[in-house]
Amino acid sequence: MHSLLNVIAVTLPPQSQSRCYVGRFAPSPSGPLHFGSLIAALGSFLQAKAQHGHWLVRIEDIDPPREMPGASALILHTLEKYGLHWDGEVIYQSQRHQRYDEIIDQLYQAGALYWCNCTRRDVIASGGFYNGHCRQLARPSLGCAARLRQHHPVYQFDDGLQGNITVPSELAQEDFIIRRRDGLYAYNLAVVVDDMDSGITEVVRGADLLEPTVRQIALYQTLAVKPPNWVHLPLAIQADGSKLSKQNHAPALTLDEIRPTLLQALHFLGQCPPHELVSCQPTEILGWALDHWQLTRVPISAHMAP
Ligand code: GLU
Ligand code: ZN
Repeated sequence: MHSLLNVIAVTLPPQSQSRCYVGRFAPSPSGPLHFGSLIAALGSFLQAKAQHGHWLVRIEDIDPPREMPGASALILHTLEKYGLHWDGEVIYQSQRHQRYDEIIDQLYQAGALYWCNCTRRDVIASGGFYNGHCRQLARPSLGCAARLRQHHPVYQFDDGLQGNITVPSELAQEDFIIRRRDGLYAYNLAVVVDDMDSGITEVVRGADLLEPTVRQIALYQTLAVKPPNWVHLPLAIQADGSKLSKQNHAPALTLDEIRPTLLQALHFLGQCPPHELVSCQPTEILGWALDHWQLTRVPISAHMAP
């Protein structure tokens, strides 16, 4: 059953056909931006603008229970204060459900999806990766998650900063979730559909997202769309080695000490801004950073946030 996939031909919107560099920053509105988010925002901005590209902002509001009221507006306000001005309209994932449904439908029609009612506990009990239990059971969709029938396992990929990444086979071969049991769209689906539709040519983000990249490339291949290039920036960690994240209550980015914070972020990214810049406007600091931006100077490994 479904041993051969039908061909999928997704229709791409005109903006996806741009020839120039298109990058993006895609924060989740689960809390305010923190120093780690600034690294992803600044790194993706500089990488795009140094190549005279477009830099888009997308609010990843696909998980309402995890959203913090007011976070989207605060995030956009913070980006503006830091001089990180985006191109075009902000994209909101909450307004793209119809498109996600369309892609899910096409995947289903092509035999690339199946429905699964295994619980997270079942998956943990079978070793942490989904073992394909429902693959041949032809379950109805009701109360089930949609999983991708994995035909394009990704065993390795190239990252513009981290180099060649080798993927463990359990991860590469897993039939991962496209739509959750509770009806919410999976991050991996939304991120791929949006990056594809926006014509993103390179994804620059934190190294905590190296693992999902494997699934995202597999999904591009299933949709017969060329994946973007990948650049995973070093993670900002705390003194105890834990990563800065909204989950562990990293402090919100300051709106009072913007200039020194921008300089710290540039140092974190291995660029060496002259100290005198601290008396300049954020846009002037970014202007210096653009003129001097070198991805090769960015350190590979996680290191401490200031
Ligand atoms: N929304 C994700 C986050 O805030 C980032 C998604 C991405 O850059 O692909 O962690
Ligand atoms: Zn299952």
